Amino acid sequence: MPDTSVTSNNWLPAEVATFIARHEARYGAMPLLALDGELDRLVTDHERLVDCDCINLYAGTNIPNPRATALLGSTLGSRPNLGAPGAKYNKGMVHAEQLEIMLSMLLKKLFKADFVEHRVGSGSLANLYAYMATCKPGDAIMAFSDAAAGHPTHHEIGAAGLYGLKVHEVPFDTAKMDVNVDALRDVAKRIRPRLIIVAGSMCLFPYNVAAVRAVADEIGAYVLYDAAHMGGLIAGGAFQRPLVEGAHLMTGSTYKSFGGPPSGVVLTNSPELAEKLDKIAFPGLTANFDLSRTAAMIVAVMDLLEFGSTYAKACVANAQALAIALDKIGIAVFKPSGRDQFTTSQHVALDARSYGGGNAASARIEPANILFTSIGLPLPAMPGDANGIRIGTQEITRWGFKPTDMADIAALIARVLVKGELAASVRPDAMALRHRFQDIHFIRKGAV
Ligand SMILES: *Cc1c(COP(=O)(O)O)cnc(C)c1O
Repeated sequence: MPDTSVTSNNWLPAEVATFIARHEARYGAMPLLALDGELDRLVTDHERLVDCDCINLYAGTNIPNPRATALLGSTLGSRPNLGAPGAKYNKGMVHAEQLEIMLSMLLKKLFKADFVEHRVGSGSLANLYAYMATCKPGDAIMAFSDAAAGHPTHHEIGAAGLYGLKVHEVPFDTAKMDVNVDALRDVAKRIRPRLIIVAGSMCLFPYNVAAVRAVADEIGAYVLYDAAHMGGLIAGGAFQRPLVEGAHLMTGSTYKSFGGPPSGVVLTNSPELAEKLDKIAFPGLTANFDLSRTAAMIVAVMDLLEFGSTYAKACVANAQALAIALDKIGIAVFKPSGRDQFTTSQHVALDARSYGGGNAASARIEPANILFTSIGLPLPAMPGDANGIRIGTQEITRWGFKPTDMADIAALIARVLVKGELAASVRPDAMALRHRFQDIHFIRKGAV
């Protein structure tokens, strides 16, 4: 009998361990035939809920091109694929290896970069690749703090710490939501980091990459721009151009604003860094890698090459309209004191302190089929919860929502957060609004 007692994973909170144990016991009692049915039901119900019935404002997601999703189901990814195209160790790759060349070419064109490493499983691993290419264990690096939406992979608990890096905070100007460059220069001269990371999981305004690069040059450090969230907007030319502005490296996730399959990329104009990244990818950290994602990525990149500019502008227009609509209806939209706009990206931030905290508010509104999450904001802390809420417009933009639709979304959010209406009673109206949008926009129909 498998041990399903809650003591087996007692590092988890008790209610989580109990939840897992209860369902594990339930599945353990099912014959395989019943599990077949359960498998199909869970996938179908998930897709209906999240892809069809929810207004998905989660900043770190998107709806992919169905053609990309279909390619993920090919057997490409199960076939070992070792070494450079043209010199594969395993045989029979004469067709498949061409996909790698095609994707590299397209990514370099999209981001106007000289080199790309796409054999990267995720944005988190892309950051690890960047650390390995620039740092040795024991080196100091600088990264955005939690209050500036720094990512766990930049910090001690994530890839940076697991690789043995010592992490220091990038001083942040909360009035501008940008790097405090003068303070950065002072701290960096003292700490002498090997790497300075710019950007995090919420980017309301572009960062002063050129000034960070100037500081980095004074101390011989590298600059890494983490474009996990901003890949789609950067591709569309609607945010900033980190490599042109001075970043040595740009990493990214490919399933957020990028709108592709779950994967990662690292881009650079430096041949030295590119060679290191190539060797980290193979034979370093991958033997086989998932070529079905390479194929799906080709679809996503072609979408961005054709529609990226209009898509990126539409994401920003929706975010700005949503922020204004939320503000108008009495929601506490976060606006930094040194800015005259709420946002110039796809992200909108809310001050969650009057809504019981970011996690509590996200859980309260979930039964309304409106999805978003918490984030740390440079506001007074909330004990036991996050002080902010983060919203992203990239998915609703691909579903065809326009700035004129944002007042409808704001009204639904206000019914739960401001008027205290039960989320479940708002759900029919949220679903009715969502169902008005049935087609995915900014995607190519493909060769027919
Ligand atoms: C989401 C995110 C990542 C991690 O990306 P994954 O592809 O999910 O591993 C890295 N950095 C930042 C800033 C992120 O927001």
